[in-house]
This record gives sequence, structure tokens and C-alpha cells, in this order.
Amino acid sequence: MTSKRRLFVTTALPYANGPFHIGHIMEYIQADTWVRFQRMRGHEVHFVGADDAHGAPIMIAAEKAGVTPQRFVADIAAERPRYLDGFHIRFDNWHSTDAPENHQLAQDIYRALRRSGLIASREIEQFYDPVKGMFLPDRYIKGHCPKCDAADQYGDACEVCGAVYGPTELRRPYSVLSGATPEMRRSEHFFFQLSSARCAEFLRDWTQGAGAHGAPRLQPEVLNKVREWFATDADGHGGLADWDISRDAPYFGIEVPDAPGKYFYVWLDAPIGYLASLKNHFDKGQAAAHWHAQSRTTQSYEEFVADDAVEQVHFIGKDIVYFHTLFWPAMLHFSGRKTPSQVNVHGFVTVGGEKMSKSRGTGISPLKYLDLGLNPEWLRYYLAAKMSARVEDVDFTAEDFVARVNADLVGKYVNIASRAARFITQHFDGELRYLGTTEPLLGAARALADDVATALDGREYARALREIMAHADRINEAFDAAQPWVLAKDEARRAELHDACARALAGFWQLSVLLAPMLPATASRVARELFGLDRDFVWSDCSALPTRVAPYRHLMQRVDAKLLERLFEADAPTPTPTATAAPAPAPAAAAESPTISIDDFARIDLRVARIVDAAAVEGSTKLLRLTLDAGERNAATGEPRLRNVFSGIASAYAPAALVGRLTVMVANLAPRKMKFGVSEGMVLAASADDEKARAGIYLLDPHAGAEPGMRVR
Ligand SMILES: [Zn+2]
Repeated sequence: MTSKRRLFVTTALPYANGPFHIGHIMEYIQADTWVRFQRMRGHEVHFVGADDAHGAPIMIAAEKAGVTPQRFVADIAAERPRYLDGFHIRFDNWHSTDAPENHQLAQDIYRALRRSGLIASREIEQFYDPVKGMFLPDRYIKGHCPKCDAADQYGDACEVCGAVYGPTELRRPYSVLSGATPEMRRSEHFFFQLSSARCAEFLRDWTQGAGAHGAPRLQPEVLNKVREWFATDADGHGGLADWDISRDAPYFGIEVPDAPGKYFYVWLDAPIGYLASLKNHFDKGQAAAHWHAQSRTTQSYEEFVADDAVEQVHFIGKDIVYFHTLFWPAMLHFSGRKTPSQVNVHGFVTVGGEKMSKSRGTGISPLKYLDLGLNPEWLRYYLAAKMSARVEDVDFTAEDFVARVNADLVGKYVNIASRAARFITQHFDGELRYLGTTEPLLGAARALADDVATALDGREYARALREIMAHADRINEAFDAAQPWVLAKDEARRAELHDACARALAGFWQLSVLLAPMLPATASRVARELFGLDRDFVWSDCSALPTRVAPYRHLMQRVDAKLLERLFEADAPTPTPTATAAPAPAPAAAAESPTISIDDFARIDLRVARIVDAAAVEGSTKLLRLTLDAGERNAATGEPRLRNVFSGIASAYAPAALVGRLTVMVANLAPRKMKFGVSEGMVLAASADDEKARAGIYLLDPHAGAEPGMRVR
């Protein structure tokens, strides 16, 4: 066992102008998996995140929303736990770059850089919006392309002819904020002198060096990219340029000390937010509570960040390498601070080989994933199965997702427990007993655990999972070869049956330990419910043998391919208003469908409703617009209240055939805004699981005598 490592781990701070997208979630899953693994090994880890709260885009978005920027980012922050908890992503602390710690740290670092002689001030010319009274970031200026005269082009490149130019070259420029013609004005800006010989020399060494644990700070392909940025031509042009770190008021950010009306550019204080979140974590006493209760030392934030043994590890996307491998280490170093040990860069998520695009609807909404009831651990497993230490994009395809989860996780892994535990419960009262020596079994487990540990520590998750699943194959093969179903019929061969099942379950125990960083919830249930531990697994459990097993309880559902399809329906009605919309169990898993209580069922308000009108929906071949009378009245006016419901039954019914008929409606479904209007409920219909084998949609129809408004229960 290596000595205890002290780790400070971060993910890139998300810009607080919108909800998380799948790219954020992938990064958090990558980091969370690594953090969980390090903790299982007994290392000390402090894993923090924060919202990146500052900058013109948030200031402008808040103004549009009619709230303060502080309120705007607080509302965004309030949504974060749904995603993080939903995907089992467990930060020790989540903070904001607008917090007092960050104001203090950013100003301290700036003052130290100024003392180091690395801050310069220069006058620059920039577009100014005379109506809004503010300098305009490039993205808020549009105009006609200087090459082809196309209208409404941004200040950097033309989307029509592809020309690249500067904002001052635009013809007839205008402010996106006010429409006013911007004026050129001069203003004093502060610069961090990245082009200085001192910085260049430091960064050349730093980028090629190794962190506290001896691993290279940068991946080879990242280092290559950095070398391109250093490169100068024969005349000495190119290379690193000074960095403009100030912005003029009005700006939502941190004030530059001794310079009224000047604020730090958001990218200066954003990475400092890593330290601010860590400081907040320590100051709240959480860090001490987690790690120092036993060692009786209570370390402060200042002592922790100054400790040479502490490794600072950042997980980031490939789009922000420049900030994290040049500005950030230079800012830290020249302000007298420790620099990062490792900057781990990942690629983007693509879907079916295409880069995500909200407008084309090819993205995967993390919240929709959770709302559909898809298991978060499926996504954790699937992404891990495709991730390596290289800067590669991760492609998500539905077929591949279904195949990997169903074949590997359910078919190979969960299957071992469900098969073997039943024999042990039925014949041996839960006791596990092994025939002969178990040393080879344990030796193999230790060797596998070491290989997997090396892979996980090096972020080679795909390789780790290949080794784990190959082991699952071997366990299944040995179990099949022993033919336990034959042994079970022969009283004389009980000991053999007992041994075969015990070994299969010992294998399942070991697999569960190794999979715990990817499948924390399932592994926790296996440890506590199946094997009766009073704690979660730790890595050294790999070389232990379980002695008892509880009766098997369902651990994981197979992926329902139809449910997954709905994840990809571009803004289609999430509750497709037919019974098939309900998360129906896949046929293979029908017997293992989780039960619900009568109280769960009672939460669904089902009512008889009369279809008073039905009409085709222009622009949709699937939907009909139904007007339903469920016997309700408007509380204020006493008028009958009718509901508008969209239902995906157009392929089965002509609208006129439905008018006047009764059906069953879910009355307390949250209204859902669709492309065609708001749907205020859904009607129930039946269809086959396999629509290719048996097509058709059949609306439910109460027997004669039922009346609108009657409760169905
Ligand atoms: Zn053009």
C-alpha cells in the first residue's frame, strides 16, 4: 500500500448563466469516479466545485430577467443539487466565485502579482455603447461583413462567407444590447505580463514537469498544444501574449484594488474560485470533521494549501486548456503559491458522432434523463466504459448504451448474484463455505485489484472496466461449468454446490468493490444489504472473502430501449400521452419490476373524462388535440372547466370518431408546455411493448354508466 496521499480535486467551474448540460455531467462523473476510488484506497481527498458567477453575460442576462446578478446566480445555484445528487456526484463543497473568500483571494493574488512587477497598465481602444453607457465585449457587437456585406455578423468572423476579421472592421456596426452605433473610446486596462521572460521560462519548465505524486502534470497531447503556443517565428513574433485582466464598470465582478471603476475580467477570478471553495470548506470545519477527527490535527486552509505533500488536481475540458496551463499556474507561482500537480483534460460528449447542439436537439438533457427514470449509474458506467486518459471525445449512441448496460452490467455482473445467492438462501441458510484452499482465488483477486487500481488512478477507466468484465465472464463460466442446477438435485454433492455458489459470490463481492467508484449506490447496497456490512466497501475488501449472504433482492433493471429513445426525442412531449409513455418494464425484466405501495399508486389522480372535441394538430403526424371534460369547474366563475390534452394517438383514431366518448385521464400530471401549446394531463391507452410485432394504440374506455369526474382507483 502506498503512503497516504493528500488530494485537492476540482472540476471546471460552470458558468452560472444556465443549467448543467451533459458535458458538465460527464466531467463531474469522471472526477467523482476518481475521487471515490482515491477515498476507497484510504487517501485524503477534498473535492470542491463552485459556480462561476461573474462577467458581462450574467450581468446582461440578469438585467433582462429583471433581477440582480446575485439573485440570478443564486437561482441557478439552487438547481445544482438536483443534478449532482441525481447522478451521485458528491462534492465536499459547492461555492460561488462571488463569495467573500474569492473577492479577498483575487485581490490578494493581484496585489502579489503587482509586487512581483508583472502587472502593466495600458490604454486600449474599444467599442463603447453610448446608450447603455458601457464598453462592449466583442460578442455584443454585430454588423455587416467587411468582405461579403452579409448583415448581422459577429465581430470576429462571418458565418456566411467565413471571413475572419476584428470587430473594428465591421461595416455599420451596432450594439446588440441597444442597437446604437458604438463609438471607439479609450480606456486604461491592466495586463498580466505573460510575455515576460520570467513567465515564459517558468511555464516552459512547469508544463514539462511532474506533480507531487510523480505523474506528468500534462497529458502528451496537451503538452504539444502548449508548445505551439510558446512557439515564435524567426523574427521572434508569436509566443505568449500579455493578458488583459481588467474590465470597466458597469461590470459584475471583483473590484481591482486602487483602481476605481475597474473590475477583474471574469477569467481572472474564476480559477481562484477553486481556492475560495476550498477555503470555505475548511473554514466551515467540514474538512477537519472529515479527515482529522482521528489524527487529532486540525489543519487550517492556509496550512493545507502550503503543504508540499498536497496534490492539486484539476479536471477540465479541452476548450479551457490555455487558461489552466498558462495563466493559472503563472498567477499562482508569481503570487507565491503552490501550483497544480496535474491538469487532466478531457474531450467533449458527442451524440451519434455529432457535436451537441441545442438548436438541432441532438444533445442529451441530464434532467430529462433523470425525469424519465433512467438509472444514473447506467450513465456513470457507460461514460466510464468509454473514457481514457487521452483528450478524446466520448460518443454516446443509444444502441451502444443499451448493449453495454444490459449485456455487461445486468447480464454479466448482477446476474452472478441473482443466480448464486438463490441457491445459498434455499439450501444453506445464507452461509458461504469454500471447499479446499481459497488462496488462488484471493491471489487472483489481489492481482486484478492492483491492475484495476493502476488503470483507475491513471484515468484509464475503459481499460479498468474491460478487465473487470473479463473477470465477470470467468466467474460466470466457472459457475456454469459447475452446473449448480444439476448439483442441487443430488444430496451427495451438496458440498460442491455450496463451494460453487460461494466462489461465485466471492467473485461478485470482488467485482462490486472494483465497480464501486462507478456504481456507488449499487455497491453500497451490495455491501450493506447483500453481505451485511455496516459500511461501504473499501479497496482492501478485494482481498477478503464474504462469509454470509442475505436473500437476493433486485439490484438493477435492464435498460428499456423505448424509454431511452424518448431521451433523444427533440422537444417531443416528454409524457407521450399514451400508456406506453409510462416506464414500462422491459419484457425480460417484467418479473423483477420494482413494486410500489398503494400510497404510491394513490398519488396518481385518475378521472373519467369525456372527449368533447378532438382535432388534428398541424405540424404533427402523431398528436391529436383533445378537449376533455372531467367534471371540473372554475373555482372563481363556476363555469365548467375543460382541459386541453395532446395525445399521441393520431395514427389510431380519426378525430371525429372520438368526440363524445369517455376515457381515463391522469388529472394531476404537471402541465407541460409543448411546441403546440400546453398539455394539461394525459389520457391512458394501451399498446404492445414490441410495436413492430403488434401495432396499434387502444384508448381506455370505461363501461357504460361511468360519468366525467369519477375517480378511477
Ligand atoms: Zn461575409
